[in-house]
Amino acid sequence: MKAEAEGTVQTETRQTQQRVAIHDAFSSERRPLSPQEALEVAQRTVPGLGIATVYRAIKRFVSDGVLVPVELPGAASRYELAGLGHHHHFQCRGCDRVYDVEGCPPRIAELAPEGFELEAHEIVLHGLCADCSETTSATT
Ligand SMILES: [Zn+2]
Ligand SMILES: [Zn+2]
Repeated sequence: MKAEAEGTVQTETRQTQQRVAIHDAFSSERRPLSPQEALEVAQRTVPGLGIATVYRAIKRFVSDGVLVPVELPGAASRYELAGLGHHHHFQCRGCDRVYDVEGCPPRIAELAPEGFELEAHEIVLHGLCADCSETTSATT
């Protein structure tokens, strides 16, 4: 195939491959990813991928409702797949990865002062993930 249109077709195919690889990064890691982390995972499939493409794809996924931002105090934005249901996050101070935490402590509403109506809550756990706590105890 040496047609003039070949270039356009290849560009579209490449863009689709890139978007699929970026989406796959989020579904395979099963935890919130920063654009940089998504890039590193997606590069296993698409080696030539650049960070600007990842930012563009993420922006598009967010406006399409595929990804939602995960805002953590004092940390760069992460993104995760939409529709995961209510859950919380664990941020590792060793590797700076963010993990999903299943479940939710009961009776949180009781923490609100008398007469207050609780509408939402965020819980972020901080510490060392299994990998990092293993490394720490191995060297001490
Ligand atoms: Zn860690
Ligand atoms: Zn909760």
